[in-house]
Amino acid sequence: GMKPSRGNMVLLAVGSNTPGSFGPITETLRKLPLLLEAHGIGIAKASRLYTTNPVGTGLQPHYFNAVLQISSPHAPAVLLRHLKSIERQAGRRLGRHWGPRPLDLDIIAFGGRVVSWRTGRRRSPGALILPHPEAHLRAFVLVPLCEVAPHWRHPVLGRTARDLLKGLRISRHSIQPVVDFPPGSWH
Ligand code: ATP
Ligand code: CA
Ligand code: CA
Repeated sequence: GMKPSRGNMVLLAVGSNTPGSFGPITETLRKLPLLLEAHGIGIAKASRLYTTNPVGTGLQPHYFNAVLQISSPHAPAVLLRHLKSIERQAGRRLGRHWGPRPLDLDIIAFGGRVVSWRTGRRRSPGALILPHPEAHLRAFVLVPLCEVAPHWRHPVLGRTARDLLKGLRISRHSIQPVVDFPPGSWH
C-alpha cells in the first residue's frame, strides 16, 4: 500500500494481556500484520514490543504494548469497525471492560483530525474520539509512539509525542522492550 505522508499519519496502539484464538500473546501479535492486511490495512512503521512491569501488588498480568503507523484505505469510523472485527477474530469477547483481552486496537490519531475531543469528558460508549482521549497521558502509548513518530504533534494540545512523554515524568523502567520480540517480528 501507499505510505501515508506525515500530514496523514495514522497511528494505532496495540495491547494484549491474555492468550486468544491464535495462542499465546506473542502469536496474536505475530499474526497481526496478516490480520490487518486482510482488512486492507498496511503497516508503514512499527515500534518494538513493550511490556509494563506490574507495580505494587503485582496481581495484574503483564501488559504488552506497541504502536504501529499504518496506511488505511478506510475513513476513521470504518477503520474502527475493522479493528473491532480483528479484535474479535483474535478472541476478544465483549463485556468485562477491565477484564483480560487478547487484543486491543486503539486509534491514537488519524492525521490531524479532531473528533469529539474534550479534556476530562466522560465518553459515550461506541463514539469515536480522535485523538484517543487518554493517549497523551499513557506512558505505554507514548514510549512506543516516540519510537515510531517522536515529532508527531497532538492536534489539540499542540505538543509533540516527545514533549508529552517528557511531561509525564514517569519511570522509563516501568516499561521495557521485549527482547525476544525484535522489530522484525512484525514483518
Ligand atoms: P481505552 O479506550 O481507555 O484504552 P479500552 O481500549 O479498554 O479503553 P474498549 O472497550 O476497547 O476500551 O473501547 C471502548 C470504546 O471506545 C469502543 O466502543 C470504541 O468505539 C470507543 N473509542 C472511541 N474512540 C476510540 C479510538 N480513538 N480508538 C479506539 N476506540 C475508540
Ligand atoms: Ca485501550
Ligand atoms: Ca480499545
